[in-house]
Amino acid sequence: MLTVRTHAPNGLVSIGTKSVAVAVAVQHDGVMPIIPDTKNWTWVLEKPCAECGFDASVLSERDVAALIRSNAGLWPAVLTRPDATARPDDSTWSALEYAAHVRDVFRIFEVRLHLMLDQDNPLFANWDQDEIAVAERYNEQDPAVVSAELGAAAAVLADTLDSVPDDSWTRRGRRGDGAEFTIASLARYLAHDPVHHLWDVRAG
Ligand SMILES: [Zn+2]
Repeated sequence: MLTVRTHAPNGLVSIGTKSVAVAVAVQHDGVMPIIPDTKNWTWVLEKPCAECGFDASVLSERDVAALIRSNAGLWPAVLTRPDATARPDDSTWSALEYAAHVRDVFRIFEVRLHLMLDQDNPLFANWDQDEIAVAERYNEQDPAVVSAELGAAAAVLADTLDSVPDDSWTRRGRRGDGAEFTIASLARYLAHDPVHHLWDVRAG
């Protein structure tokens, strides 16, 4: 049996029966099961990532918008590779799967930012990235479409970050696993994800 272990650093901790049920269900369909990533990646706020080298602790939240725009500009070349849909091994996502994930990261954090701007200390809806990767069939999506969508999502998110009023960076929000963020820490936290995944596809 083939198994896939994803390396997605923005993950919610979600090891409940729902994810397990999905993994079992897809085996019967002949699709490679995804093992949910149970790491809590919030440590990236405190120290450099030992894999990609990114250090969010020295990053200003006000620089995240520019970082996102720069990062998004590197994905189109990745997605035109002839092997964009190939998994390097049984435990690693393809470049297309990473790109589709990064697109969805940009989208989900856009939603979370607006929640934090509009509500007091909102609780974010759960987002199981591994379950979504299977359900949305990331590796069957059109690389050209994913490329355009990633760029558009990055632009929207960067514009939202640029529009955060000076006195709003301390507004708060919470994840379902108990992790707490301000808009500033959420911005620095999300910055690692696209950087790490460019490293995953060796384009960063
Ligand atoms: Zn990293």
